[in-house]
Amino acid sequence: MNARNILNADLHCHSVVSDGTLTPELLAERARKGGVELWALTDHDEVGGQRRAAAAAREHGMGYLTGTEISVTFAGETVHIVGLGFDPDDAALSQGLRDTRGGRAQRAQEMAQGLAQVGISGAYEGALQFVGNPDLISRTHFARFLVETGVCKDTNEVFRKYLTEGKPGFVPHRWASLKNAITWITAAGGVAVIAHPARYKFTPNEEYALFTEFKAHGGRAVEVITGSHSAQEAIKYAQMAQEFSLAASRGSDFHSPDESHTDLGTLPYLPGELTPVWELLQERIQ
Ligand code: AMP
Ligand code: MN
Ligand code: MN
Ligand code: MN
Repeated sequence: MNARNILNADLHCHSVVSDGTLTPELLAERARKGGVELWALTDHDEVGGQRRAAAAAREHGMGYLTGTEISVTFAGETVHIVGLGFDPDDAALSQGLRDTRGGRAQRAQEMAQGLAQVGISGAYEGALQFVGNPDLISRTHFARFLVETGVCKDTNEVFRKYLTEGKPGFVPHRWASLKNAITWITAAGGVAVIAHPARYKFTPNEEYALFTEFKAHGGRAVEVITGSHSAQEAIKYAQMAQEFSLAASRGSDFHSPDESHTDLGTLPYLPGELTPVWELLQERIQ
C-alpha cells in the first residue's frame, strides 16, 4: 500500500439540501465519528450546503473539499459527474447548476401523473413533504413517500417497481451535457470525477466513449472505491483509471441512516497503485 493512499477520505454524500435526510452539520458529525479525515458534501445539482459543510468540517478538525454531483445526459442515459474543490461562488457554475435543477418541478408533476394512473394519488404533495430544498425534488423523495404510505417496503422496491425506465412514475429527462458539466467544474477551479461508473447500463463501446469524451473535455478522475461498487467492480475501475490516466476517488454516497448500506468513512482505502484525487487538489483543501 502506498502511504499517500492511506487517507480516510469520503468525497461523496448527500444532505437535506438534495436527497439526503441529514443536515450538513449532522453529516459532518457522523463523518468524523466514522473516522473521516477529508470530507466533501456533494449534493445533487446544488452548492447551497457548502458553507455549512465547510464550517462543520472545520469544527470537527476534518479537511474539506467543496463538492457537488451534476446530473448529465450521455448516450441517452443519466450519468453523474462529481465536482470537487471548485469555487462555490463561481457565477457560471452557479448558473449551470440552476439550469440543471430547472426542469425538476415539472418532471415531478409528470411523475405524479404517471403514478396517479396506476392508482397512487397525491404523490406530488406527498413527495414534497420529504423535500428539504424546494428546488430539488427528486425521485428519492417520491420513494420515501411510497415507503411511508406502505405501497413498498423500501426505497429499492419503489425504484424497481415505479421509478425506473418503463415504470409508471418514470419520466425521461434531459440533464446537462457532459461537456458543460465538466467545463463548469473545471473553470471554477475544481476537478471533475465520473461518479459510480458501474451503475450505468452502457455497452463496452458506450462506456469507452464516456471515458474518452470525459478525458477530452478535461475530466481528471473516476470513483473507484464507492458504496455503489462490488469488490470486482472496484478492480475493474482501478484498471480503467490506469488505462485512461485518471486519478481515483473514494466516497460512500451516503444518503440516510435508514436507507444507505455504506456509512461515511467505512470503505476500503484506494488501491496503492492509483493517484488519489486529493493529490490534484492539495491547494483547494480547507
Ligand atoms: P433523480 O436525480 O431525481 O433522478 O434521483 C436520482 C437519485 O435516486 C439517486 O441520486 C439516488 O439517490 C436515488 N436512486 C436511484 N436509483 C435508486 C435505487 N435503485 N434505489 C434507491 N435509490 C435510488
Ligand atoms: Mn441521490
Ligand atoms: Mn449518483
Ligand atoms: Mn450521489
